[in-house]
Amino acid sequence: MNTAPSGDAMTVRYHRDTETALLKHEDVRRPIAWTIHPDDVVRFAAEGQRCQARRCHNPVTVTTWRWWRSTEAGRVLVAERFVCDQHGQQFAARYHIEIESSPAVPSLRAGGAS
Ligand SMILES: [Zn+2]
Repeated sequence: MNTAPSGDAMTVRYHRDTETALLKHEDVRRPIAWTIHPDDVVRFAAEGQRCQARRCHNPVTVTTWRWWRSTEAGRVLVAERFVCDQHGQQFAARYHIEIESSPAVPSLRAGGAS
């Protein structure tokens, strides 16, 4: 026994398609990495922060941002990591990018501290 699609069902379907399209669009963003300002390097070291790569205890000198699509959150999230020179280079090589000499997204960086 078939029931005609209700208006509500069509609305839900429409929103879902729109979100999927947005996700695909947002997903295009490439990972970025930049050298941390010397003042921040000193501050991170003073706070005892270390490279976040596994088993690495080098000082933090590079910030990496990688976007990934979270189906759970229903949107694109960004994963921020603080790593050393070596792991920054590995990140850049993996994604075929260059490590920038300054923050690539200064507007987002400002006030980013939690
Ligand atoms: Zn490291």
